[in-house]
Amino acid sequence: MNTTPSHQKGAPTDYDVIIIGAGVIGCAIAYNLAKNGLKTLNVDALPAAGYGSTSSSAAVIRTYYSTLDGTAMAYEGYHDWKNWPETLGAETDDGLAQFIETGTLVMKTATDTLERVQEHSDTLGIVYEHWSAEQIMERLPGYNLECFAPVKTMDDDAFGTPTGGHLDGGIYFHAGGYVDDPQIAARNLKDAASRLGAEFRFNTKVVSIPVEKNRVTGVTCDDGSIIQSNVVLNAAGPHSGKVNALLERDAGVRIRHRPLRQEVVQVKPPETLGYSRKGLLVADNDVGVYVKPGSGGQLMIGSLNPACDKHIEEDPDTFHRDLTDRSLAYAYRYSQRLPELGVSQHPVGIADLYDATDDWLPIYDRSDVDGYYLAIGTSGNQFKNAPVAGRLMCQLIEYCESGKDHDNEPLQFNLNHVDHTLNTATFSRKRDLTQESSFSVLG
Ligand SMILES: Cc1cc2nc3c(=O)[nH]c(=O)nc-3n(C[C@H](O)[C@H](O)[C@H](O)COP(=O)(O)OP(=O)(O)OC[C@H]3O[C@@H](n4cnc5c(N)ncnc54)[C@H](O)[C@@H]3O)c2cc1C
Repeated sequence: MNTTPSHQKGAPTDYDVIIIGAGVIGCAIAYNLAKNGLKTLNVDALPAAGYGSTSSSAAVIRTYYSTLDGTAMAYEGYHDWKNWPETLGAETDDGLAQFIETGTLVMKTATDTLERVQEHSDTLGIVYEHWSAEQIMERLPGYNLECFAPVKTMDDDAFGTPTGGHLDGGIYFHAGGYVDDPQIAARNLKDAASRLGAEFRFNTKVVSIPVEKNRVTGVTCDDGSIIQSNVVLNAAGPHSGKVNALLERDAGVRIRHRPLRQEVVQVKPPETLGYSRKGLLVADNDVGVYVKPGSGGQLMIGSLNPACDKHIEEDPDTFHRDLTDRSLAYAYRYSQRLPELGVSQHPVGIADLYDATDDWLPIYDRSDVDGYYLAIGTSGNQFKNAPVAGRLMCQLIEYCESGKDHDNEPLQFNLNHVDHTLNTATFSRKRDLTQESSFSVLG
């Protein structure tokens, strides 16, 4: 494979590729580009890799998505996490983040489109089982499987009142779990990239992205330095809209993406649940939450963004990180399912931002400006896909820089572990809303 981008044949630059951001996505891209022999620099405003929204990630690795490409990408990512030392080219797992395999259970609720999920799983050979209500009760003692949908806010008088009937069981996916420390995972990718010669500059903010004759020429930083490259990639997480605004031309992103506030709350599970570090991950749209093992024997509750909760758009530079009543609502929603749950009025947890598109699929694409690329709109569900996004963006850069017309003949990206070719038009900046989407964080 020819790994020399055509632009290198012109005037010399400081780097083949500059990546803005050293979160899990920016580091994964650097690692793959460095593997292909390119000279890369990640510039990050924060002091170390993975300090941005990556550090707040629930780091859930699951395979069920509403689109076939989304499912295939997530299943590919699962293999990368399961073989993390191999993914990194490391000889041991010393100092590496750990993938904890727990399996995942999706409750069968009135709002879920599980037929499509099953179809995609069948197509890709993803193993799952149907669990009856009795099997769920056996595995999750103390659960109340009455229906409560539609999900309500706490000030609704009907909150907590069953709405009739019981959940009809769930679907258990064997392949799934979580990564114990998402920030360490980003650092692992950064270290693997550094071993191959990739460079990182921290505590440095990009303040402008100059363009000449519709091609980027590099970046200018807040310390006054000008770094030259004919390829610049935006992997700035919740700041990605602000970074696009630094480009001297319009990047041509048609689908909206914006930083949305998210909170996750930790609670102590009742002993009767028998929940541990290997506890089952559960997604439950009937009460609008997902749960996973947290730190120190706690259980972590996050939101599946039900329709009753308005999106809260925040400024990534000024948003406050204190928990609000929202996280308390998540805990109370889960206590509908698990009545023994003790909910503290002083919840502990994390508040951060998703960079969410309107259809909750990411944007992995070029832009209207030559040499300017996008790995943005990661929508709260792309941690699991970071290793795959790293390979995809690397191939996309090679494809476009060798003169291919990605906008009209989109890159077809072969997966390594799953027998599937992704049509990367799925992640286009110019796409119409993906109608198949769950329009939630489930993607
Ligand atoms: C609460 C929460 C829970 C989540 N749970 C899951 C989950 O369970 N499973 C899953 O798959 N995904 C999950 N996600 C999503 C996933 O964590 C993100 O998609 C992923 O971490 C984004 O990584 P990133 O590298 O794109 O962004 P970030 O980690 O935010 O990195 C972007 C970096 O860009 C830097 N930057 C920004 N602007 C500039 C600038 N001008 N100059 C220099 N540097 C700049 C920032 O400092 C930052 O370090 C969750 C996200 C959140 C917030």
